[in-house]
Amino acid sequence: MKPVINPKLCKGCNICVYICPKKCYTKGTDISEMGYFNAVVSFPEKCYNHNREGKLICELCVLSCPDQAISWHPETEEEKKK
Ligand code: SF4
Ligand code: SF4
Repeated sequence: MKPVINPKLCKGCNICVYICPKKCYTKGTDISEMGYFNAVVSFPEKCYNHNREGKLICELCVLSCPDQAISWHPETEEEKKK
């Protein structure tokens, strides 16, 4: 599974950038529709949950996001190969 940021909910606080132990997130450089520099999931393949299904582990990013902007999505076949 991979973490995905909802651009309509993210406020660009960057908590996910600082808290992820695997450095999956980076600070955004493009301003969102809502007027924030949203964080970016730049390295989803580094996440503990990469290629993991069923019970997920870590989830620090999801639990720490004050706007509940991060959710889990299945990876594509291409992404699974990374
Ligand atoms: S913690 Fe949530 S609101 Fe803050 S930058 Fe990350 S996704 Fe956006
Ligand atoms: S689950 Fe953990 S390792 Fe994966 S992106 Fe979130 S904080 Fe990083």
